[in-house]
Amino acid sequence: MIRKLFRKMLELPAGLGKGRVRPRVIPLAQHGIRREALSRAALKVTARLQEEGFAAYVVGGAVRDLLLGVSPKDFDVATNATPEQVHHCFRRSRIIGRRFRIVHVMMGPETIEVTTFRGGSINDTNETGRIMADNSYGTQEEDAHRRDFTVNALFYDPKNETIIDYQHGVKDLQARRLVMIGQPARRYQEDPVRMLRAVRLAAKLGFEIDAHTQKPIRAHAHLLRREPAARLFDEMLKLLMSGHAYACLLKLRDEGLSHGVFPLLDAVLGGEDDDHRFLKLALASTDARMREDKPISVGFLLATLLWRQVNQHWQALMSEGERPLPALLHAIGEVESEQDETLAIPRRYSVTMREIWTLQSRFDSRIGQRPYRFLEQPRFRAAFDFLVLRAEAGEVPRALVDWWAAFQHGDTEEREALLEQAKTSDLGETRAPRKRRPRRRRKPGGAPESDA
Ligand code: ATP
Ligand code: MG
Repeated sequence: MIRKLFRKMLELPAGLGKGRVRPRVIPLAQHGIRREALSRAALKVTARLQEEGFAAYVVGGAVRDLLLGVSPKDFDVATNATPEQVHHCFRRSRIIGRRFRIVHVMMGPETIEVTTFRGGSINDTNETGRIMADNSYGTQEEDAHRRDFTVNALFYDPKNETIIDYQHGVKDLQARRLVMIGQPARRYQEDPVRMLRAVRLAAKLGFEIDAHTQKPIRAHAHLLRREPAARLFDEMLKLLMSGHAYACLLKLRDEGLSHGVFPLLDAVLGGEDDDHRFLKLALASTDARMREDKPISVGFLLATLLWRQVNQHWQALMSEGERPLPALLHAIGEVESEQDETLAIPRRYSVTMREIWTLQSRFDSRIGQRPYRFLEQPRFRAAFDFLVLRAEAGEVPRALVDWWAAFQHGDTEEREALLEQAKTSDLGETRAPRKRRPRRRRKPGGAPESDA
């Protein structure tokens, strides 16, 4: 009876029924996901829409993650209500987006993204087949068809605790396979970011990318260059904060997606694998923090990504005799201007990134009042965490980290003792000559200046 009613709900409006497929409706007994597994906000939003007579389902990543036994990081809802109707149902909500209008419903600390079923034909594309807008509404079945991967096209109905599967998503999920819905090449033309999503989701979920889904990626990689820098930057952050950052980066490189797409990644992944010691350590620590649900500072993360370049320039300038701080500032300037032209790092992140770098030269000043003043710096902690990574990568002596750790936590007496000790113990941290005079006395040929 319930199932019959349910089928009725899924029925398409007259005229749209051609080629209709009956979805698999999977009961609770088979999938085991109770409505209590959803967040309060997701439950409330779906319930409210259903009370108003609309269809409303939890959809996408959340259903996929629940089936995999992973706790979803957010919940998306799909409905047949238009954005205006959704907005009307919730006081704290707003319609956002232009190319793709959705509604954000704010409920307590959560924000639920509510999308109206997409459907009809996509006629707003540009000359490369890129979708320019997708605001024509359709049925649930059509909506499933518009989603990217089969495992992302599952709907969960909290009322009946059933899963609705139009695209064999459950089968692919069990096989741990990422399969693009429809013709992969065409779907990448419509939206090139789907290639990045394939890489990220495969790394995050530990899935194989299906052969047909993978094959066109290399040939379509160039399309990513036309995407707005801001969208690419967001997607790159998602990659880096997926909990599998290094695996994602290597996979991007293997799929031919790193070069010429994200200038940042060209820089990061360039050089030999041996050069990636610091990067690997930094990303492993980011991944671990993600898994432990600890906050991640994007500025810090970006600082670690580009540190190899900064450090190379810095060391080179110091070996030419430049003093540590000016050499470091000089190196930072060079790396930043390379990045600026291509991948605009938003200012709110680049400021932190630059500060963390600049402060690295201050760990060498362990005399007088300087260490005390350094401790008062608001970014001391971030700079210190960065120094720890550098020590782990073998760039600076471990003893320097230990000294600063002791100084941070010591009382006045202990600090004075540490300062005394620093006068006599050279940790070899300053690798540049302190004085430039000897260089100036020499002529290019190396002969001592006779007329000085
Ligand atoms: P995550 O775990 O990162 O949140 P997700 O699959 O939930 O993964 P979202 O960006 O939250 O990713 O997208 C929600 C859903 O919207 C996806 O599961 C998918 O069904 C659909 N979707 C997102 N981006 C696209 C796209 N570029 N093309 C088609 N469908 C998409
Ligand atoms: Mg999601």
